[in-house]
Amino acid sequence: MMNIQIPVTKKKRIVIIGGGFGGLALADKIRSEEFQVVLIDKHNYHQFQPLLYQVASAGLEPSSISFPFRKNFRKKKDFYFRLAEVKDLLIEEHVVVTSIGNLSYDYLVVAAGTTTNFFGNETIRKVALPMKSVEEALTLRNTLLLRLERALDCSNPDTKQSLLNVVIVGGGATGVEIAGAISEMKKYIIPKDYPDLKKDALTIYLVEGSTKLLASMSEEASGNALRYLTDMGVIIYLQKRVVNYEAGRVLLNDGQSLPASTLIWVSGVVAEHFNNISPELIGHGGRLLVNEFNQLKDHQDVFVIGDICLQKNEASYPNGHPQVAPVAIQQGELLADNLERMLKGSSLVPFAYKDRGALATVGRNKAVADLKKLRLHGFMAWVVWMLVHLRSILGVKNKLIVLINWIWNYITYDKSVRFIFKSSPKGY
Ligand SMILES: Cc1cc2nc3c(=O)[nH]c(=O)nc-3n(C[C@H](O)[C@H](O)[C@H](O)COP(=O)(O)OP(=O)(O)OC[C@H]3O[C@@H](n4cnc5c(N)ncnc54)[C@H](O)[C@@H]3O)c2cc1C
Repeated sequence: MMNIQIPVTKKKRIVIIGGGFGGLALADKIRSEEFQVVLIDKHNYHQFQPLLYQVASAGLEPSSISFPFRKNFRKKKDFYFRLAEVKDLLIEEHVVVTSIGNLSYDYLVVAAGTTTNFFGNETIRKVALPMKSVEEALTLRNTLLLRLERALDCSNPDTKQSLLNVVIVGGGATGVEIAGAISEMKKYIIPKDYPDLKKDALTIYLVEGSTKLLASMSEEASGNALRYLTDMGVIIYLQKRVVNYEAGRVLLNDGQSLPASTLIWVSGVVAEHFNNISPELIGHGGRLLVNEFNQLKDHQDVFVIGDICLQKNEASYPNGHPQVAPVAIQQGELLADNLERMLKGSSLVPFAYKDRGALATVGRNKAVADLKKLRLHGFMAWVVWMLVHLRSILGVKNKLIVLINWIWNYITYDKSVRFIFKSSPKGY
């Protein structure tokens, strides 16, 4: 295969796979005086995953949570972006194999994140709607809106109910947030836009395998999230698992089945996969094993950061760090400094995660926050959640658009973007 055309210079070349939270933090911080940087991503934009659920529930336009890489790095010297999918890592040869050609590197940084885990169930993979990318969030929005349109003229009551049943699998932050957002659509939007549907027509189920929602947060946060969602009319099944989908019914492990056209799958992730990686470099969840400096086991010039890496050196995280944005960002920033230290022959600094807490929102004035010294719920937690997310979105224009949308939605009880742009529903 041909090579990707990047000029060869005297500088060391860093190839970064993935411009998510980790890759972007690294690429932003690394000094182009010292290195040539090539960022490869299969999308030409960075996506702000924490707000995907608002795109899926017609609250925000996809462009307000996406930011083009070329614009972000316009002013960076000796920086190259290539839109391509990396397939193979030829670590011994110092080469990555991509969909548009091969590229050699001095240092490789794998920051490719994770993908949805369907636990090997092919039927569920084909039918269910995941929510890991902007495209998937848009497919979900289209599907939800199309189902409402179809339900209006459906004369068979069973089929109609199935069109109006939504089953969400996974009671982590994403499942809780999308359940809350759809339930707000049901309360505020459906009566206005679909007056000929009954007020309580839409039924939302949230299925979680463990004993509580938001398993990684405090008991208090889990309890509050459960209470909020129950009050909002979401039917919650704890300690139940979805095992299959057959003839329009979602099958649960206890033999129960729910008729539902829309199955939203946010129940777990698995690391992105590359060919030619030896099995002893892979840990649980398909994550690549690294040392305290994020170096791939036995390979000093290959670094792995963010969700895709598994670092077990830190005493408080013996099973690896949580797969959240701050870990990826902090690892990316530290790696930028460590690569410069490497160039100067200084010793590297090990990674130590600074955990500032966890947040999840359920809906209007309803959120939960486990901060370092403070636990909040309700309106205050919701304000904190909004400020934290606004601060983190890339681009001043995006911050403004998101803020205006939120204020508009808050005042009018309306969501502004209920368009069906592409008809690609999944399911029965
Ligand atoms: C719906 C949702 C909500 C979330 N909410 C929160 C939250 O509220 N707070 C929080 O802290 N975390 C949240 N997370 C988790 C957070 O988004 C991740 O921890 C974070 O994105 C990890 O960053 P990363 O850099 O490792 O990978 P990512 O941000 O996932 O970036 C990976 C990048 O690699 C690219 N890529 C992947 N494979 C290839 C390939 N083969 N070739 C080329 N490019 C490739 C992708 O296009 C992507 O740009 C959420 C995640 C999701 C899905």
